[in-house]
Amino acid sequence: MDDSNRFHHERYLGALSTTAIQRIDKRTAVLVQPIGAFEQHGPHLPVITDALTAERITALAMRRLSITDNAWQLPTLAYGKSNEHLGRAGTVSMSASTLIAVCMDLGRSLAASGFTKLLFVNGHGGQPGLLELVARDIRVETGMQVFCVMPSQFPLPEGISQVDTSYGIHGGQIETSVVWALAPEMVDMSAAVRDGDVVEQLYADSAHLSLEGVAPTAWVTDDLSLSGVFGDPTAANLQDGQSIVESQAANLAELIGEVQRFAFPTLGVTGGR
Ligand SMILES: [Zn+2]
Repeated sequence: MDDSNRFHHERYLGALSTTAIQRIDKRTAVLVQPIGAFEQHGPHLPVITDALTAERITALAMRRLSITDNAWQLPTLAYGKSNEHLGRAGTVSMSASTLIAVCMDLGRSLAASGFTKLLFVNGHGGQPGLLELVARDIRVETGMQVFCVMPSQFPLPEGISQVDTSYGIHGGQIETSVVWALAPEMVDMSAAVRDGDVVEQLYADSAHLSLEGVAPTAWVTDDLSLSGVFGDPTAANLQDGQSIVESQAANLAELIGEVQRFAFPTLGVTGGR
């Protein structure tokens, strides 16, 4: 079934001419920048997974907005910082400094066009820290309001129970269900294996240390997973994927509305810059 129209909408900034973009009300316009990664996701998922999820969840959120909403989707940054997976076939990573430089150039260019609000929609668990850092640097340098979100961090819809909570961070139950719903032709469930559960024993006696919690460990895939998977993709299913996708898109659409309405107070601080 060809369902590529599911992800079609009228809010691609790239489809507009410079004169049409000139007419956009820049005080409220929200530019939405999907950013992903190009990295191994185990034997059952495509390397484009994180870029695909960021792009398609954004498109589905855009379709939920009303005609008066002033929000625009930018072309996806498909490459991210994926050095934790380097050496696994197909992984292409930008260094942190390169990705920061790319995002800064993006922010500068959009600010020079008069835009004031930018939202990064991130599909890759290896770079939220980097994006928060760059968001503040764009804020300081250009005065734009910059926001970040990782749709997979929105709460799961009711009725879905995750079996790999403590280690299911990469190619596991939830991510596999989501890709299954968004691009079933790219998923090979016959190759899905559970892996990375060594994490559970590794931190069993730690009160504070964990993989990605309050005191995270700087891990690379080769430390913890033979297959490249962290989680249990064999517990994935299409129906769960569909409801997670709908719920993430609904939450993201709501967030875009919040960003559009957001304004800092006018404090009139003097003596500083
Ligand atoms: Zn991923």
